[in-house]
Amino acid sequence: MSHRLIACEHCDYLHVEEDIPAGSVAYCRRCGSPLYSAAQARFDKPLALAVTAFLLFLIANSYPLLTFAMEGRVETNTLGSGVLTFWREGFPFLAIMVAVTSMIAPLFLILAHIYVLLPITFNRRMPGMQQLWRILAMIRPWSMLDVFLIGLLVALTKLTDYAEVIAGPAFFAICCLIPTVLLMNITLDPRYVWRRLAPTGLSYPEATDIKTQNSADQSTRTLLTCHTCAMVVDSRDKEHARCPRCGDMVHHRKPRSLSRAWALLVAAVILYIPANVFPIMTVTYLGRTEADTILSGVSELVGAGEWPIAIVVFTASILVPIIKIILLGWVYLATAIGLAGPLKERTLIYRITELVGRWSMVDVFMVSILAALVKLGNIASVQPGFGAVAFCGVVILTMLSAMAFDPRLMWDRAGMKNAKQAGPDGNDQGRGDKQGVPS
Ligand SMILES: [Zn+2]
Ligand SMILES: [Zn+2]
Repeated sequence: MSHRLIACEHCDYLHVEEDIPAGSVAYCRRCGSPLYSAAQARFDKPLALAVTAFLLFLIANSYPLLTFAMEGRVETNTLGSGVLTFWREGFPFLAIMVAVTSMIAPLFLILAHIYVLLPITFNRRMPGMQQLWRILAMIRPWSMLDVFLIGLLVALTKLTDYAEVIAGPAFFAICCLIPTVLLMNITLDPRYVWRRLAPTGLSYPEATDIKTQNSADQSTRTLLTCHTCAMVVDSRDKEHARCPRCGDMVHHRKPRSLSRAWALLVAAVILYIPANVFPIMTVTYLGRTEADTILSGVSELVGAGEWPIAIVVFTASILVPIIKIILLGWVYLATAIGLAGPLKERTLIYRITELVGRWSMVDVFMVSILAALVKLGNIASVQPGFGAVAFCGVVILTMLSAMAFDPRLMWDRAGMKNAKQAGPDGNDQGRGDKQGVPS
């Protein structure tokens, strides 16, 4: 039994951590978000996976990705070709975004795991481990090699009708790299790394204390939760203006969260119009030039009978951005007016929008692959278009908007309204449970 205090990252409800059976996950009593998974005694499995991932990453970056043969001419591209093509053709924003999401962030993720897990496995210390693990939390959502692979498959589907395309060693390396990184993330709960790195946090004080803290509103609650490592710190303790574990600033709630989230969402809505009006790429095939928008790209796939890929692209590029914008708008609005409505469901919706938004990058990756590979002048060539820039902007702005929003505000605002309606003694039912969490 550890008896550590932990707070839910999505609703800030305090729990007392308890040991749970191996392989199970503990969920928040109030909002149902996952809190932690069963304790891991060993770090060697994720470490081995990280080393494997690093070797696969090296192969993926040093060998050809695809070879494209048409009319006796052959073109070969690598993982980095798309970045260079975007840069040369005057799309520096796309070049930077593709470089960050398909190369820099995945490499950082893999190396950070090796740098932190290797010393932990041998009970050693290396300088900067905590800082690195903190930066990793920020970088993690931007590592999108899995989305890149789907973009690669879409590009392949589009090409195979016109030319001979041969997958190179890098293609197979990426196919193996994605499950390796996925497995690494599954076998490692970042919270356990935090525990091995630094102070383990406040231990469980008195049953009455957690009860008062859970029923306290923003202004009276003295226990704060670090946004980065989720450590519970006491705000009465002056030393804890910065988190003692990860060194990040500890705020009660993310500063100006709602207004920043709104601003970014509105910018995304505005950019969504050019993203769909302007072509994401211009395709020249046997002397004929055609502009492709996101929607025409999908209908082309349907026309070619490529239903599975058409459904994937339609979902990732059209459904996900629209639904994400609508749902985030609803979550923000409900928070702004302090709607007490279905809070659990709203928290779940927010968590899902946070997870799925990145999949909309599929089309941007597809353009980067096609533009780098198909460069046979009038016979066949692909040029990126402004639509891709705007679309990439929409994906990034909605992701930043969801990150800027603090989901705990939903519970604060609804709680304030409930308290007003119920009078001064209006407490939530079930608050202040001494017991931990069901697994
Ligand atoms: Zn919760
Ligand atoms: Zn922290």
